[in-house]
Amino acid sequence: MIKIDLGNKTYVCPFCNHAQAFGHSFFRHNTLGQLAERLSAKDVLLKNSFDIFTFQCNNTACGCISVIAISLRDGHQIDLVPRVVMKHYPDYIPQQIRHDYEEANLILEASPKAAATLLRRCLQGMIRDFWRIKEKNLYAAITAIQNMVTPPQWKALDGLRKLGNIGAHMEKDVDLIIDIDPGEAKKLLRLIELLLDKWYLARHEEEALCSDIAIIADEKESQRKTE
Ligand SMILES: [Zn+2]
Repeated sequence: MIKIDLGNKTYVCPFCNHAQAFGHSFFRHNTLGQLAERLSAKDVLLKNSFDIFTFQCNNTACGCISVIAISLRDGHQIDLVPRVVMKHYPDYIPQQIRHDYEEANLILEASPKAAATLLRRCLQGMIRDFWRIKEKNLYAAITAIQNMVTPPQWKALDGLRKLGNIGAHMEKDVDLIIDIDPGEAKKLLRLIELLLDKWYLARHEEEALCSDIAIIADEKESQRKTE
């Protein structure tokens, strides 16, 4: 959900993640518009209407438009553009993994079970790519990395595998329906984000820092030799 604080006039752009004051860069209108003035049951209708907020990001490198609807009845917020706020991961993470993650985000509310299945596939791709584990099935792949991750992390990975199985395989007993609710699927999504951060982003940052320090050390060494 797009983070917005109408009282303090701030929001976080869902495209570039910059927190900002929206000042003059927004437009607000009501879904009833001028029609409200001409209607007899104006107050009742207004209560059931929405205020639509359109923002343009102040970050010139972004400049993207976000649109939010807020119910005047209960303050409920509906994100219109973008429909779903999600993280955007860098290109050094394989495209298939990023696609599965993004698709899981898009379908999560409507179909949490299908999202869990996609996140399970995402995890399988990550273990294959990051840990170079070529096992055919996810159970064997997760077993193979048991000693490489922390025990709580391993238990969570196995949990994601089992929950993803609910959607991936037909239940043997068709009368037995086990559902996954959006809150549970969201937790699986957070787990994939945590692993992407801890595995891929952390490794990338470490490699960049180590390479920088090696370059600095080499430069100093050659300066010392020339003096
Ligand atoms: Zn932006």
